Amino acid sequence: MHVCYGRTMNASTPRRTFDAEQIQRVNQSVTMAEELVSNFFKMSANQWLRPKYDVSTLADLTPAEIVDGPFAQIIRYEGQRKGSPLGSDAYDYYKICLQDHAILAALDSSAELALLPFCLYVVVHELVHIVRFSKFLQNFNATASEKLAEEHRVHLITHQILSNVRLTGLDAVIEYYRSWRTPLENLSSP
Ligand SMILES: [Zn+2]
Repeated sequence: MHVCYGRTMNASTPRRTFDAEQIQRVNQSVTMAEELVSNFFKMSANQWLRPKYDVSTLADLTPAEIVDGPFAQIIRYEGQRKGSPLGSDAYDYYKICLQDHAILAALDSSAELALLPFCLYVVVHELVHIVRFSKFLQNFNATASEKLAEEHRVHLITHQILSNVRLTGLDAVIEYYRSWRTPLENLSSP
């Protein structure tokens, strides 16, 4: 698994799930994120991304997919194309596991943060990870310090992707993540 760092919750916070209206906004953010990330990497969402990943919210996660603190984690599964002999034609499949409770806690912590721009940032960030994993630009099973360096890189790319997007509340989200874009010290260089 790849866990993206969070910082607002403690483990005793109850796990709230998104309500129906919030799920709609999450879905909207996924659609927007797919388009932005495919344009950025100049690839078609259908060809490149869609068969390879899915986004789930807390209500659809298994206990192993839930984590307290981070806003999301990515779990890699091995997929098998239908009709092919066992072991042949296997492919990597990534599940973006959104942690509703951590996202809602972050929104509670700041009146400036809103769900749509916040989820847009999180989903773009996770899709950038997946593109980089699937292009072998980053090893899924990296060391802790490599993972931290990758977080920094992925936040920079996320910022680049979102820098020309006009969406109410997005500036506040970008500001919220500012510390992740400043150079990290004591990391092995990529
Ligand atoms: Zn991340």
